[in-house]
Amino acid sequence: MNTQNPSVSERFSAFRSAVNPPAPKRFEKIKNASGKEAAISEYFGCMTFGLAQMREKLPKDSYNALLQTLEKGKKLPKEAADAIASAIKEWSVAKNVTHFCHWFQPMTGLTAEKHDAFISIQHSYHSELRVIERFTGSQLIQGEPDASSFPSGGMRTTFEARGYTAWDPSSPLFIIEEESGNTLCIPTVFFGYHGQALDNKTPLLRSIEAITREGCEFLKLLGDVDVKRLNVTLGAEQEYFLIDKNLAALRPDIIMTGRTLLGTSSTRGQQLEDHYFGSIPSRVNKYMQEVEFELYKLGVPVKTRHNEVAPSQFELAPIFEDVNISADHNILTMEVLKRTALKHGMVCLLHEKPFAGVNGSGKHNNWSVANDKGENLLEPGTTPHQNLRFLAVLAVTLKAVFQHADVLRTSIATPGNDHRLGANEAPPAIISVFLGSMLEQILNNIEAGKANKATDQQIIDLGASQIPTISRDYTDRNRTSPFAFTGNKFEFRAVGSSTNVAIPMSILNAAVASSFKECSERLKEILKKKTNRDEAIMELVKEISKETKAIRFEGNGYSQEWRTEAKKRGLPILNTTPEALKVFNNKKATQFLVDTKVLSQEEIASRYHINVERYVKTLDIEFMTLNELVKGFVVPAVEKQIIQIGNANSFIKSASLKKAHRGRLDELESNFSDIMKTLESFEKVLNKSQSLHDEVARMDLIVAQVVPAAEKLRVACDLAETLVSDEFWTLPKYREMLFSNTLTS
Ligand code: ADP
Ligand code: MG
Repeated sequence: MNTQNPSVSERFSAFRSAVNPPAPKRFEKIKNASGKEAAISEYFGCMTFGLAQMREKLPKDSYNALLQTLEKGKKLPKEAADAIASAIKEWSVAKNVTHFCHWFQPMTGLTAEKHDAFISIQHSYHSELRVIERFTGSQLIQGEPDASSFPSGGMRTTFEARGYTAWDPSSPLFIIEEESGNTLCIPTVFFGYHGQALDNKTPLLRSIEAITREGCEFLKLLGDVDVKRLNVTLGAEQEYFLIDKNLAALRPDIIMTGRTLLGTSSTRGQQLEDHYFGSIPSRVNKYMQEVEFELYKLGVPVKTRHNEVAPSQFELAPIFEDVNISADHNILTMEVLKRTALKHGMVCLLHEKPFAGVNGSGKHNNWSVANDKGENLLEPGTTPHQNLRFLAVLAVTLKAVFQHADVLRTSIATPGNDHRLGANEAPPAIISVFLGSMLEQILNNIEAGKANKATDQQIIDLGASQIPTISRDYTDRNRTSPFAFTGNKFEFRAVGSSTNVAIPMSILNAAVASSFKECSERLKEILKKKTNRDEAIMELVKEISKETKAIRFEGNGYSQEWRTEAKKRGLPILNTTPEALKVFNNKKATQFLVDTKVLSQEEIASRYHINVERYVKTLDIEFMTLNELVKGFVVPAVEKQIIQIGNANSFIKSASLKKAHRGRLDELESNFSDIMKTLESFEKVLNKSQSLHDEVARMDLIVAQVVPAAEKLRVACDLAETLVSDEFWTLPKYREMLFSNTLTS
């Protein structure tokens, strides 16, 4: 294929093969001992080595030493580390693993790995080399990848250039299988010489610590005196698009940027609402089965699969797990989705907005907190105490979101999400909380003082005893809310589909930890005046409910009225990534991250710089690609069309027809002139932005001038697509990319 000089026949033949895809190679299912196809439970997690496998395979004292490390943060003794490494090596070699890598999550938002072979050399007589498989405790625990090629956001200029990786034993090791050989991946954190986080996992682990520390303190005040640990739980629903590979290959924008920079909406989009939960095309179904098979081997508990709102858009949801594991699993899920798609002749687009005018892709983060007995603290209970605890933790969460709405908005700010938020059924960029009518009613009653004593009878009067059965049905239905209560958990829906969830989750956890802390202090104060604990808790819930009222919104988040209303309420409205990122410069707004020890001011500043740089680079790539598309595809197509119309016109004899036909040329000429004019202004502001040396100034100029210029240029080009003959338009069209799946058998 030649994208420089594409011909329309390539577009047609790509579409033909997209609707008649070759059958994918059948993947080899696992057989059990009796020779039958193994059930999922028989092979689930077979490519992982976590605590369960360690308990089985390790000498008792090594296993106990590991538990001490996990539970009490004690240093792992060298002998134990060596024993664990040796068990891991035995297991891996039996699974045809030749290499291992420290798998980490640098601040680029992706993962990185450096592979090392298990082999080690023994020198014997006469300098003869002998190779053996060897893997030591220190190789397991610590690594030193060349850190200079990963962003540190300026931290390395003031400190050392070195970066280290360290094993995170709370997340299972796993094997990535490739035809060429298998690799053992060791989940690790990545940090600098002075312990500065250079990754996204470190802050997440710190935020879990913070919630445990502050949450236990709070629960003890509520009367749960024996609580030792809290677990943050996350179920991340992943949305994605699937496009035939042959069509994607003809779209330089998809290849370079993961989204379409041009393209007129197809005549049918999602308005018939027939795709959502519709039957899954069999080509896609086969793909999903292989994705699930791969994920089950990696111990990822995928539970549901379905079509999403837009054509060719799908979703996969796992069963929730501890947030640290769930975050790693989501990254693995994204990788398996992409890799498997290629095997099936498709491209999986994880971008937040691959196609204008239809639903974008998000990643709803279902979040909750459980105690060490496994009780979900956001589950309305069956006893008055459980209900009271539920209301208290609900209040803590409301306070967290209210207080830190700006930083939460920043945590989901990416160039991709800028296109999604506030458009086509995606939540707006304004953070608010949806509770559902039932809980609204309860909180309003509490505020009005209708229930300041929490006797059994009053809780029943409030309807609180009915929450478990009723709220589930009444909540989840507001799709417009970025942060919604859905029965027994909150759903942070504003998170973009390509994001590493460790980022928003560590910010949310830090916000909640900080709120737990404040609420503990306030509850202690109230308890000085009110001796009845339940009454004191109700008083706290009442106060918080009142002061956080502005963050609660039950209406339509898509509407213009809400924007006006949110402004009146003083909620942060940060429409674009550049606006949101600047929150990182506001020391007062980010102080809670420092107080909870999730990020230091230095680490926050470094994240600001990295994100600014990434914003500028991402947009620059898009702009340059757009420029190429317009000059290489759109303009030549329009020129051909002008020649054809002009030719036809010269053959026409009838004066009246000649005049009428001239209208076609006039229309196209006017469009052509728009294209040339908007292209010129676009190039002018683009050059201006590229001549600036200060990254922040560039970012500001991009969002203020280059993005609007690019949008105008797109409008003109998209109009051209409707005026130019199908025969001259070489870029695959929306209808072909989005609907070819529906024609496959
Ligand atoms: P809904 O229909 O409200 O979206 P589902 O039961 O389908 O709810 O769950 C959606 C996601 O929420 C799943 O990933 C599920 O595992 C997750 N989830 C359920 N309970 C919790 C919880 N306590 N903490 C975190 N995630 C949860
Ligand atoms: Mg959901």
